[in-house]
Amino acid sequence: MKTQNKIIFVLIGVFVGYTIIFSVFIYYNISNYAFADFYKRLEIRAITTAKFQLEEKEDAEVIRELRQEHLETLQDEKINLYPLSSDRSWKAIDGIEEYNSGFVEEVVTSGTATFNDQKTFYYGVVYRSSDQKDYLVLISAENYFITHHISYFRNLLFISLGVAFLIILLISFLFSRKIIEPINQIIHRVNEISTGNLHKRLPEQSDNDDAISKLTRTFNDMLNRLETSFESQKNFISNASHELNTPLTSIIGEADVALSKLREPAYYIETLMTILEDAEKLSKKTSALLLLAQTGFDGKKQKFEKLRVDQLIMDVKGTVEKINPKNQVQIDFGLLPENPSLLKIDAIEPLMHLAMSNLIINGCKYSNHKPVQVAFGVTDTQVIILVKDQGIGIPQNELQFIYDPYFRASNTKNHEGYGIGLPLARNIIRMHKGQLYVSSETGKGTVARVVIPIGS
Ligand code: ADP
Repeated sequence: MKTQNKIIFVLIGVFVGYTIIFSVFIYYNISNYAFADFYKRLEIRAITTAKFQLEEKEDAEVIRELRQEHLETLQDEKINLYPLSSDRSWKAIDGIEEYNSGFVEEVVTSGTATFNDQKTFYYGVVYRSSDQKDYLVLISAENYFITHHISYFRNLLFISLGVAFLIILLISFLFSRKIIEPINQIIHRVNEISTGNLHKRLPEQSDNDDAISKLTRTFNDMLNRLETSFESQKNFISNASHELNTPLTSIIGEADVALSKLREPAYYIETLMTILEDAEKLSKKTSALLLLAQTGFDGKKQKFEKLRVDQLIMDVKGTVEKINPKNQVQIDFGLLPENPSLLKIDAIEPLMHLAMSNLIINGCKYSNHKPVQVAFGVTDTQVIILVKDQGIGIPQNELQFIYDPYFRASNTKNHEGYGIGLPLARNIIRMHKGQLYVSSETGKGTVARVVIPIGS
């Protein structure tokens, strides 16, 4: 069933259900009141008639006046008074057969009773006159309230129920259309988006915080992620095939040339050395790729341990300076917290070591071994590590690609590299629930900021 119809049905169902219960309640109470009230009228008339006919002349006169002035005559009113014998037998009374026998029996035994036969209502009472004689007073009349007022009231209820039903039908239709309309628009626009135009976004209403706006924003966020990952995939495939193809083509070319004719042993040695060099490059690139792929996993299998960030940075400094003695790393302990336990993170030590050394080696490499500053500090929940160099920087328009595997900026011709270090570092940091942010200015330098949650 269409959502719009569902909304209409639910709204109508709730409304009609409520109105019917409400109407039945009112109808039941009013008709109950109509019964009780009419019996009360019959009772007053029965008693006053009995008094008027059976009592002293003076009293009777007053009652007659009262009756005439204050009591309206009821429709089809019929009243009979029958003297009751001392044994209270009533069956032989002349004319009693027109009354329901059960009703008369109850009047005689209980002193009073009521009865109704569709629209005619009966009231009976045993009246004892002032001279101690008992009389059976039976009165009947048509209950005009039931026959006219209540049926008028019932019709009124049915008509208002019908009108209200039409109004609510219209309101629920308009209301459901208003709710569904933005969703239909979203569906329509989403259908327009495909891999060919992943840059398209749904229009957002920034000031609105309702569910539809949240859905739009969530969907746009998802498109952002999809587009980035799609672009990375595209870049990765072209970069990777280029990077892996270059040494392979060179190996094949060298071997082809060497085998084209018989050569001096020295030539073979030289060729083999070139081939070995290219094969080593190829091997480095594929193992870097493998590492990158492995760190892309969720990290469930690896073991996280408590690691002090200051200790980690000291170790990395040692490694970096050992790899190339020209590398200079200066650690700034100025923001060290008083409580060293705040510096502990949950980490896989070898991987964090690898990530931090990649960032610091980049700093050294791209600044031609000018000193690289490493500082760290803590907030209530996070440890922040800054790696700052005074190197060539990254062109602004290329910053967005630095995490693409094998991507190398246009100003890196004079520096060796494979374009794996940064994506690898970011994967490792993310695996530790952290974030890596890189900001840079060409000719001035680069700052890499690592933010990792404090260990639990
Ligand atoms: P590479 O092996 O090329 O250094 P990375 O993945 O570590 O690969 O870095 C990717 C690219 O980002 C580099 O080629 C370079 O253009 C840029 N880059 C990274 N770090 C720096 C830095 N500290 N200074 C200047 N450019 C950098």
